[in-house]
Amino acid sequence: MAERPYIVGNWKMNGTRAMLSEARAIDRAAQRYMKVEVAVAPPYTLIHAVHREAEQIGVGAQDCHPGAEGAHTGDISASMIADAGAKFVILGHSERRQDHGETGELINAKIESALESGLRVILCCGETLDTRDAGKAESYVLKQIEIALPLFEDPGERLTIAYEPIWAIGTGRTATTDDIASMHGAIRELLVKTYGEEASAQVRILYGGSVKPDNAREILATPEVGGALVGGASLSAESFLGIVVGA
Ligand code: PGA
Repeated sequence: MAERPYIVGNWKMNGTRAMLSEARAIDRAAQRYMKVEVAVAPPYTLIHAVHREAEQIGVGAQDCHPGAEGAHTGDISASMIADAGAKFVILGHSERRQDHGETGELINAKIESALESGLRVILCCGETLDTRDAGKAESYVLKQIEIALPLFEDPGERLTIAYEPIWAIGTGRTATTDDIASMHGAIRELLVKTYGEEASAQVRILYGGSVKPDNAREILATPEVGGALVGGASLSAESFLGIVVGA
């Protein structure tokens, strides 16, 4: 497995230029904390500014269009994001699947486009509470990943998976470490089956859903957890760094 834990802040639809001071504070701390790979995904409007302000942390986007360019009013392509300074893009987040009806096929096309533009990809997956209660969480999540996965031989560090149970996002509830370990183990098996032992070893599997400074250490110590995708707690440098130092 890739060695450094990967802690990624997902700012969602939050942040004006006033947030740049938080990005600077995160960056300063990350320079002293090289054993953790730290990144943030601000809204599109701040990608270039965060990229200019922050030397150490990786900057990414929260989505991209699958096409390269053209008549798509309001959309942003992977190459435009890369040009603004982004190094990665989060794709398939449950809020995009819900709010914008994104399908596995569309997410697959976005992944291909992002990789072609030289971006790394964080592919999100996760089940609803109903699906979990019906005992179908694992098969549902594996199917989501299978449909979206790009077909290439060696994903290496270009691909990261984020398991985010929908019922844990922004709710203050987290999955138990047993549930996390079992889902991450199943995802790891799928990656090994798809890419082989060696090639899939570099693919990190992050956990997301109400990760906070007070639960991060336990979650990050769970088998097969390679880091965290953090929403609400990434909006202040203080709480985000509380998670980074626990990693
Ligand atoms: P949360 O969001 O940490 O606010 O639960 C996580 C995410 O949606 O990526």
